[in-house]
Amino acid sequence: MTESDCLFCKIIADEIPADIIHESPDAIAFRDINPQAPTHVLIVPRRHISTINDLDESDTDAVGQLFLAARNIARQEGFAEDGYRVTMNCNAAAGQTVFHIHLHLLGGRNFTWPPG
Ligand code: 5GP
Ligand code: ZN
Repeated sequence: MTESDCLFCKIIADEIPADIIHESPDAIAFRDINPQAPTHVLIVPRRHISTINDLDESDTDAVGQLFLAARNIARQEGFAEDGYRVTMNCNAAAGQTVFHIHLHLLGGRNFTWPPG
């Protein structure tokens, strides 16, 4: 399913450019336009799913693929052992701004907890 007004569907369809660093049948990953860490990558399922609230049982493999991609990219970027953060925001209170689910992969610096 593609949503014609969805920014990430347009990146997946090659209609908007992005710095894509990983592609698989189920997911793509590209660098965030406004990075919050030395490495800030967004890992996105090809299928349009608006929020975590819209997931169903058939999405479990697609979501698992996002985490495997995060693991692989963290290794490639060289911070897998030092540590990194993955985050998925859901709806307004968490600050979600693009309504096509995406895993943020942030690495290359130390992070604090709790997050802001
Ligand atoms: P959210 O706030 O929904 O969790 O994350 C959306 C992310 O998408 C933000 O970190 C924002 O910087 C990023 N973003 C927004 N527009 C674009 C774009 O056109 N290209 C890329 N590469 N990232 C974008
Ligand atoms: Zn979409």
